[in-house]
Amino acid sequence: MFDALVSEDLRDFSEEELDKLFVVHEEGIKQFLGRIPLGCIYATFLSGLYVEMEKIVGRAARGLIINASKNRGKIAGNAIRRRYEKKYGEMSVERAKMVARNMLVIWGKCFGWGKMSFKVNDTEFWLEVEDSLEATGFLKLKEKPKGPVCWMLLGYSWGLLEGLFNRKFEGEEVECKAVGGEKCRFVFRTI
Ligand SMILES: [Zn+2]
Repeated sequence: MFDALVSEDLRDFSEEELDKLFVVHEEGIKQFLGRIPLGCIYATFLSGLYVEMEKIVGRAARGLIINASKNRGKIAGNAIRRRYEKKYGEMSVERAKMVARNMLVIWGKCFGWGKMSFKVNDTEFWLEVEDSLEATGFLKLKEKPKGPVCWMLLGYSWGLLEGLFNRKFEGEEVECKAVGGEKCRFVFRTI
């Protein structure tokens, strides 16, 4: 399972193929890579949670969720890089780009976070998401957001890149479907 994650470009794999490769189903329990338990939540629960957090802590909710997600994404990216390097030696920049795309394709197709596509060059990593889970959730709520809402995906992707590349990035959601965008678009630039 891990070998497929770090050795094959998974962009053209179907949802079924990815699920078969990476998710073990056992008596109602799903486990990613055979050891990380997975569960589904509905989109309006997730967006509703952000609305409730804003009622409690105000605009700080955004920064808290992005930063917490970034920290966890970085832990995931570091863990993948370390496991890779133990087996294959140093992870090249090209390999890190592929693994980052693979993880996000899995988040999209297996975990239901939206249809992901990428544009990557030496200093920028662009992520485009159709029907982002977080934006879709907000579109179904009464509460209208003031700015981009895909906080968890922004933070996770950002941290994942920092962990895999072992360097700092700046990250931003520059367009969000929840506030009138055609899609959600994220840019991460090396600093
Ligand atoms: Zn968005």
